[in-house]
Amino acid sequence: MNDAPPPEEPFACARCGTTTDTLPLTWTCSVENGRRQYFCEECARANIRAIEGRLDSSWW
Ligand SMILES: [Zn+2]
Repeated sequence: MNDAPPPEEPFACARCGTTTDTLPLTWTCSVENGRRQYFCEECARANIRAIEGRLDSSWW
């Protein structure tokens, strides 16, 4: 493909690695160390407290 690369790579869940071309409304976006990270619905629920608390994610 010689087309220009898209502005954003496909979204990938930072926890389980699930990828999607379009960001579902159920996914959660979190900024960690200046990088955007996305979590699928299931992982977002599992990590909701960590995300909202902006805790260090190194334990993931
Ligand atoms: Zn996930």
